[in-house]
Amino acid sequence: MKRIYFDNAATTPLDPEVKALMRETMDVFGNPSSIHHEGRQAKTIIEKARKSISGMLGVSPGEIIFTSSGTEADNMAIRCSIEDLGVQRIISSKIEHHAVLHTLDYFGDKGIEIVYVDLLQNGHIDMAHLEKLLGTGDKKTLVSLMHANNEIGNLLDIEAVGNLCESYSAVFHCDTVQTIGHLPIDIQKSKIHFLTASGHKFNGPKGIGFIYISENVKVKPMIHGGAQERNMRGGTENIYGIAGIAKALEIAYAEMEAQQKRISELKDYAAGLILANFEGVRFNGDSNGQSLYTILNIAFPSSLLSDMLLFSLDIEGVSASGGSACTSGSDQGSHVLRELRVAEDYNSVRFSFGKYNTRDEVDAVITILKGICEPQKVAH
Ligand code: PLP
Repeated sequence: MKRIYFDNAATTPLDPEVKALMRETMDVFGNPSSIHHEGRQAKTIIEKARKSISGMLGVSPGEIIFTSSGTEADNMAIRCSIEDLGVQRIISSKIEHHAVLHTLDYFGDKGIEIVYVDLLQNGHIDMAHLEKLLGTGDKKTLVSLMHANNEIGNLLDIEAVGNLCESYSAVFHCDTVQTIGHLPIDIQKSKIHFLTASGHKFNGPKGIGFIYISENVKVKPMIHGGAQERNMRGGTENIYGIAGIAKALEIAYAEMEAQQKRISELKDYAAGLILANFEGVRFNGDSNGQSLYTILNIAFPSSLLSDMLLFSLDIEGVSASGGSACTSGSDQGSHVLRELRVAEDYNSVRFSFGKYNTRDEVDAVITILKGICEPQKVAH
């Protein structure tokens, strides 16, 4: 059975070209900090990758620091804002990724004021409330908001948030883990101070990410050690990962327009078929509006599809993610769907599409879904 992978927001398969380059890079064994030939060879790989990424993002190479993951990059943005920029208050939302939320919990326990901006009914940030929060108090403030939500795909107007941050002299951290390589991002226009990214969300390797830190903010390393990463992150560099993430981003940028068109059509096609075939189904978030084209989060009435939905899909050869608003038992449910107040009698499944998915796969998944749901509820 050929499996169907609709879980690209969780991770993406490695692009064969990226894999080939990483294999080649593995022949380079020098320590990038060594000054001899082998060391310089390794160092060149890192600096070439940094230059390539910074060029695509329109920033300077010194503003890109490689990290072990998007999670580390998020931690760094928040910790450095507090420890080096004097941030005493953080405005965020309750539907951020746990890489942000759990870091905020940690610093909240240490006395940093954490405030959460209200959400509109469709899951978007209430911009009026954000402005109101920014206008109150006199503590140095960080706004940490993600570009696209990894569960529902809602997109933030980052330029509007950047402008607000500028007006109120706040620092802006944007988690772009789901969007980098999928959407063009203008860092200058959006006035972002910290931008965080992860290689495995755009057909690059796992265990490698990066943080952009604007040269207008001066921060110290979060990981202490050697002088690696221009003195900003100790630890001998993951040169295979670094070569891989840069190559993956180069491919993503070259293909972006075409993939955006193709995958958007795939998402629309899937959404249309789901509405036509299943009664009472809804989409979580602003699926038809400001939404990332790779993510479709579907709420099936539980009378139609049981909470074994993901398990059944897996058995039938379909990989997807899910989540319910339910908090019972060991299943903590989805904090995002809970905040969106998705009723507990819906079972949600997230289909997230990537560049290797096809219309035929969508057709096959619809047939499989029809097979596993209550037959009398299938619309004819
Ligand atoms: N932020 C968002 C929005 C994500 O979707 C993820 C991964 O799922 C992360 C951060 C964490 O990235 P990483 O897996 O590289 O730690």
